[in-house]
Amino acid sequence: MKMETGNEIQAKTDLLNDLVHLAIDEGADGAVAIPAAAIVVVPGLADLCHDPKCENYGLSASCPPYVSGPQMMQRLLPRFEHAIFFKIDVPTDILLSNERRHVFKILHTIASLLERTAVKRGFSDAMALAGGSCKEIFCMDQPNCQVVEQGSPCRHQAPRCCQIFHVRIRNQCLPVNGGCRVENGSSHTKYHSR
Ligand code: SF4
Repeated sequence: MKMETGNEIQAKTDLLNDLVHLAIDEGADGAVAIPAAAIVVVPGLADLCHDPKCENYGLSASCPPYVSGPQMMQRLLPRFEHAIFFKIDVPTDILLSNERRHVFKILHTIASLLERTAVKRGFSDAMALAGGSCKEIFCMDQPNCQVVEQGSPCRHQAPRCCQIFHVRIRNQCLPVNGGCRVENGSSHTKYHSR
């Protein structure tokens, strides 16, 4: 295995810090960079997508049966060194209402931005995952997903849906380099103002 130079290690550390702060700047209530090894794939949870069947099942290219499930994630994970996790604090009543579309739109938009930023900075394998159906979030007014129906490019560069990969984080996982964790003090406010 090729040894990394000091500059390469520094570039990664800088990127992780920048991505954590970018997530906060764009509306996340907390963000952290963690080692990818702390991510655990939970295979059985993906069965919930089709039993009981989700109302969004099969409606977009980022949902099953059009995406690979936990097995693919298990194969992919060892290729990654780090992950950025971010959260948006949402009251349960909002999450259970139609307003959740707005929250999930912010979630997907941040995830996509982080992926594009990492790719631009030279990490071409960066991959964004976000929960929620992109059909419901971005293409609600469209008759169908054009990726599924016509094989055309996505209208919105939607991230892949992380629910189908079903991962969780090991307990007592520490942020990369003992840092890179940011909490935003203004929870419950940002998504209302967009
Ligand atoms: S075209 Fe719309 S529904 Fe299809 S993958 Fe893109 S955002 Fe999702």
